[in-house]
Amino acid sequence: MKEYYKNSYLKEIDTKIINILDKDYILVKDIITYEEKGGQSSDIGLVNDKYEFITIVKDNDVYIKIDNNPFKVGDIINIKIDWNHRYNSMKIHSAQHLLSGLLYKYYNIQTKSVHMQNNFSIETDQKEIEKDIILDLEKRFNKAVSENKKIKSYFIDDDNIKLRRSIKVKENIRIVEIEDYDKIACGGLHVNSTSEIGPCYYLNSEKVRGHIRLFFIVGSLLDDKVSIWRKNSDFITKLTSSCDNKHIESIDKVFKEKKELEYKVIKYQKEIIENKLSNNILIEEVSDIDLNLYFQVTKNYEDVFICAIKKLDNKYNFIIIDKNNRINNLKDILIENNAKGSFKDNIYRGIIDFNILDLIRKNLNE
Ligand SMILES: [Zn+2]
Repeated sequence: MKEYYKNSYLKEIDTKIINILDKDYILVKDIITYEEKGGQSSDIGLVNDKYEFITIVKDNDVYIKIDNNPFKVGDIINIKIDWNHRYNSMKIHSAQHLLSGLLYKYYNIQTKSVHMQNNFSIETDQKEIEKDIILDLEKRFNKAVSENKKIKSYFIDDDNIKLRRSIKVKENIRIVEIEDYDKIACGGLHVNSTSEIGPCYYLNSEKVRGHIRLFFIVGSLLDDKVSIWRKNSDFITKLTSSCDNKHIESIDKVFKEKKELEYKVIKYQKEIIENKLSNNILIEEVSDIDLNLYFQVTKNYEDVFICAIKKLDNKYNFIIIDKNNRINNLKDILIENNAKGSFKDNIYRGIIDFNILDLIRKNLNE
């Protein structure tokens, strides 16, 4: 008997084992453990406060599975479900119904599919949804939560009932109704009132199969997220010495200053390279200069020889610019020494296993 349909708040039960399959799969008389279905996750928990179980459907029955099951048919066992996990998935499921109900009632937007793990999402039937509508939806949601509307579930035999989404089944239909906001057929478990769901926060959206999919966060995951946001905000407040309504301005200012400084550093580095190039030859190892700067500096030089290397772990990045072919067979020399990279138009860039400065000096003097 599925006790969870009579009372979705049953956290534990003492019940009799009536069947065992494949040694580890246990079927009990009174089932309070919910199986994964309709996007809602399945229950986990403990048997006799000791044995971890998961919930699995086998042969159309809801079994719990314990690794190395020590029990036999006829035993009375205590089943305790992980209430945090279950209560959170009930909140997420009710939040999804409320959001889908509001989308339909106020904006005529239908729900195509839902995902209810962690940050839950609703795939709508729309190609685009304006941000204002989503923020308005979030407001309506939180208003409905504050109104403490009843959430009821019941079975009916009626094919004329008006539901958010029509169904083919005509008998034994399980209805989940959120007072004033939503009515739909659903086999999932829900909280008893909208106030239990708590606030909901819109995260972001993406396009899937040509439809907008909206992501939300609710329940304990939202609590976790809020503490991350608070931590981030405190960090930025400390870092920028600004209050939270000035964070964007402060960060923007910091990044602009950083960019200006980077620009200045590059300008100075270029000037240093130019100064060193007084006799048109430069051979050096550097640690803090982007090798591409040598290329940029010498673009307009007609006669220049540069070899600059930079250590990278146990190899060397190099750039050699030899506009007047001072080393005739430079490409061959590099290939012979296992250099990898691009060698064309008198510009040689790549990576090599050793410090090549002495080798280059030797060939340049020959
Ligand atoms: Zn549902």
